[in-house]
Amino acid sequence: MRSPESLTPPDVDRVAASRAGVLARQARARVKADLSSGRRTPLDVFYMGTIDKETVEAGLRFREFIMALPSIGVSKTDEILSSLAISPRKKLGGLGVVQRGVAAVWLREFSVRRHIVEVPHVVVLAGPTAVGKGTVAARIRMNNPSVHLSVSATTRDPRPGESDGVSYYFVSDGEFDRMVAAGELLEHATVHGQAKYGTPRAPVEAALAEGKSVLLEIDIQGARQVRESMPQARLVFLLPPSWDELVRRLNGRGTETDEQKAERLATAVGELEAQSEFDCRVVNADVSTAAQQVVDLLGIHKE
Ligand code: 5GP
Repeated sequence: MRSPESLTPPDVDRVAASRAGVLARQARARVKADLSSGRRTPLDVFYMGTIDKETVEAGLRFREFIMALPSIGVSKTDEILSSLAISPRKKLGGLGVVQRGVAAVWLREFSVRRHIVEVPHVVVLAGPTAVGKGTVAARIRMNNPSVHLSVSATTRDPRPGESDGVSYYFVSDGEFDRMVAAGELLEHATVHGQAKYGTPRAPVEAALAEGKSVLLEIDIQGARQVRESMPQARLVFLLPPSWDELVRRLNGRGTETDEQKAERLATAVGELEAQSEFDCRVVNADVSTAAQQVVDLLGIHKE
């Protein structure tokens, strides 16, 4: 007779796997329903699925994806697939570089023909210390002036080259507490146990009212608060290509003392564990690719 230990785990695994499979199928069905009803745009689903293989969208077969587009039938779907030379069994997350390129061009043309307008999004860019959030955000601002990049308030001292109102609003502890009490911050947190940081609410709301996409470059505690207060916000986790590279970037920056570096790396371990809470993961191996992927997720494809 097999011992209980040898019997139980496979059963548990099978049940868990079949539950996970059902949940994944339900999630993909919701994505298709959102596409058919126009609640989500084709490019939005496409970029979510092709940028990060772990997303629900990545598990969608390209054929199902095309067939879920508004008013596309079976024969039209097969015509499109053969014109793009993409196999019906390919999943969005499994498309190669060339396939992604031809599919994106086709989807852009399709969206223009059907007058499908991208909606502005709030994208929260979070990730571990020194991963390059600031550099990626700066690249996005440089190339996409219509994106509103939120300027945070902080109680830390300015570093050389930083100016008030551009890098941060540098405020006193008292002023920060007043902003919190007055409800002026969309989210706020003490980061690395050192200083307080928060996102001023009014500029974000004003930008959205003007139809602009908004980018928040904040820490994970802040990202969690935004998820609560703005469930429609998209949470993007910026990953380093490797842990060694993260340590190298932190050392190369030369802005922290050894003690601060150790503290930041300790925080980074916990931060990396939080990546599964995010909607999408972008690897920052190369700044322009990472910046373009975040732009794709911002819903401003026509710029
Ligand atoms: P630094 O002091 O290096 O500029 O930023 C330290 C950390 O604070 C970074 O992880 C940065 O993303 C985070 N941070 C910057 N602004 C905000 C904010 O408004 N809210 C939160 N929660 N974190 C922020």
